[in-house]
Amino acid sequence: MSDTRTGAPTALSAPDVVAWIRAASASLHDHVEELTELDAAIGDADHGANMTRGFAAAVEALDDGDLETPSDVLKKTATTLISKIGGASGPLYGTFFLRASTACKGSESLDVAGLAQAVEAGVAGIVQRGKSEAGEKTMLDAWYPALEALRGGGSLAEATAAAADAAEAGREATIPMRATKGRASYLGERSEGHADPGAASTALVVRALADVVSGQGRQE
Ligand code: ADP
Ligand code: MG
Repeated sequence: MSDTRTGAPTALSAPDVVAWIRAASASLHDHVEELTELDAAIGDADHGANMTRGFAAAVEALDDGDLETPSDVLKKTATTLISKIGGASGPLYGTFFLRASTACKGSESLDVAGLAQAVEAGVAGIVQRGKSEAGEKTMLDAWYPALEALRGGGSLAEATAAAADAAEAGREATIPMRATKGRASYLGERSEGHADPGAASTALVVRALADVVSGQGRQE
């Protein structure tokens, strides 16, 4: 479905969700060094490699899959990320996409409200799996503001652009935080002063969605 005036989709079909994962993979690839450097500063320098490997595998899996609904695409993405990413981020992103898939099972397409519900379920999955909450310098500090922006509604293009802006602001807001979850928490106060790598990758994943909706998503 698309807006007759702007041509932008008003709801995400299964191929739109595939386009999102492809665009996310391309963007993660373009930013791999930045993610590696962020994780080198407060972790073990594998976040760029983890994310690019996982999303490249997801794109490959989506190419051979028989995927009819957004839920099918999200589920295939989830299972691939869980099996291909070794670090903490694999199960966390995997759980995000799996819960999002369950939340929209049976829907042919996702409008803003449906997308917000799927992201809400995904975020709840990260909270449960990571035993984490907002303000602990994790990917949640980018996902929560993105979710809040999606809940604000508007057109799909407006809501996803607002979500991407919010996720980027969330990533910046992690810089002064002290990590209390994950590997970065071992550094205590020395984790302060750097952006969280997972919040940075989430900002890229959400921006990729906004770019696909606005027609600027790069396809590989
Ligand atoms: P690892 O920490 O195993 O090396 P990655 O480097 O791929 O895995 O991912 C690190 C990112 O995972 C962190 O920057 C953070 O955003 C996220 N993360 C780690 N632990 C948690 C948690 N308990 N809850 C939410 N996010 C977490
Ligand atoms: Mg790491």
